[in-house]
Amino acid sequence: MNASANANLFSRLFDNLDNPARLAIETADGRRISYGDLIALSGRFANYLVSRGVKVGDRVAAQTEKSVSGLVLYLATVRAGAIYLPLNTAYTLNELDYFIGDAKPSLVVCDPSKAEGIEKIAAKVGARVDTLDAAGKGSLTEGAAKANPEFATAQRGNDDLAAILYTSGTTGRSKGAMLSHDNLASNSLTLVDYWRFTDKDVLIHALPIYHTHGLFVASNVTLFARAAMIFLNKLDVDRIIDLMPRATVLMGVPTFYTRLLQNPRLTKEATSHMRLFVSGSAPLLAETHREWSARTGHAVLERYGMTETNMNTSNPYDGDRVPGAVGFPLPGVSARVTDPETGKELARDEIGMIEVKGPNVFKGYWQMPEKTKSEFRDDGFFITGDLGKIDSKGYVHIIGRGKDLVISGGFNVYPKEVENEIDAIPGVTESAVIGVPHADFGEGVTAVVVREKGAKLEEAAILQALDGRLAKFKMPKRVLFADELPRNTMGKVQKNVLRDAYAKLYAKP
Ligand code: AMP
Repeated sequence: MNASANANLFSRLFDNLDNPARLAIETADGRRISYGDLIALSGRFANYLVSRGVKVGDRVAAQTEKSVSGLVLYLATVRAGAIYLPLNTAYTLNELDYFIGDAKPSLVVCDPSKAEGIEKIAAKVGARVDTLDAAGKGSLTEGAAKANPEFATAQRGNDDLAAILYTSGTTGRSKGAMLSHDNLASNSLTLVDYWRFTDKDVLIHALPIYHTHGLFVASNVTLFARAAMIFLNKLDVDRIIDLMPRATVLMGVPTFYTRLLQNPRLTKEATSHMRLFVSGSAPLLAETHREWSARTGHAVLERYGMTETNMNTSNPYDGDRVPGAVGFPLPGVSARVTDPETGKELARDEIGMIEVKGPNVFKGYWQMPEKTKSEFRDDGFFITGDLGKIDSKGYVHIIGRGKDLVISGGFNVYPKEVENEIDAIPGVTESAVIGVPHADFGEGVTAVVVREKGAKLEEAAILQALDGRLAKFKMPKRVLFADELPRNTMGKVQKNVLRDAYAKLYAKP
């Protein structure tokens, strides 16, 4: 982009807006917000933020339910040159104490029901508190309503920070990923192009807006394309199917697709107006991909990203969307697979650590220079922590988180490989393989299996089916059954929860 132009994400989004009357957001209850409305609202919010003492470079933390005002708060924060810090609505006061203490925001916006508790936490870092409820009411919108809609967007450079998103922390303490204006803008513009977004698109937006998927991928891509989005506050399968005849794109986590498939109303006809189904944030089972194609005639487009890197890879728009693969590195993104110990690049099809480099990759972890340094190679590649491979055609495959690797009797066992074999057994819906402390083996390979309704599979039958398909050291020592796997809101299986639940499985009495 032009060196003298303002690199503020807000400017890049809206400075060349040609039709302010165009629809930007429709709410679940039918309210319509145009691009012009969005810009004017963000001006009011930005003026209000400044009146509350928010300065360029300050953090504005928000733990609010999904609403248009919530999205406007993000846009206004960025517009004012401050750094937006969204927080998962599930976090308790105890957890918020850590995030607020760590990020030291100058303003915290929360649901009125939490205001009392948050006041005490915010006071410790000298932050002010405003409220915003699910209906968009609270001191924030009251204050903003009186403010001027005109606001001169703060001048920002490409590398200045626009947001800090704490990693979901399914392993270890959450870290604040620092994302710059250009990290966000460049990635969204790449996706607009790659996924062929235009102003004719209507996105069904049923993701939360405190996470990179719903906030940046879904919202920024739609806004850059001048498309429209329909905001649903949660996954409502019937509502999504109702909306399909006037929508074109759905972005979801894998749970969206498995839940939609359970609904008999999901048919070719129901999806005939849709042009694109995107999945990410957690692995989409190849089985789900195939079932979706058979039922709807659409191949789900799976992509791979993370809080720290925005989106890294995507299956192609034209060309094969391969079940179980996350596609090619996006234009401008380099990806490689290395030996986790030595960092040496591996050949095609060899499993190792996925590393990425590009304008999408974050600026480091907030106030953790040592941690940041240890996660980057000297040549600038970020070590994702995901194990995977690149196949002979160039498709990237994710095998799982490095931290989920099981080491049994000194041998590495990739849970995904065992899970794939178990999932292929008739009567199995899905499975999770974990390592559980074991006196003889260090870790015992342990499978937690969800059976299909009515399936009579027992442990012995599963072990028998695996016999001969897996090397002895990869065979589960135990197979346990569960009604469902624990997942977080982004659809990720929480293996840490399983590891805790079965920690004593092999303990000697
Ligand atoms: P988050 O930072 O919450 O977005 O989580 C990022 C992590 O989610 C990645 O490091 C991957 O482990 C996982 N992930 C995201 N997309 C996919 C995908 N399509 N397939 C498998 N894992 C994925």
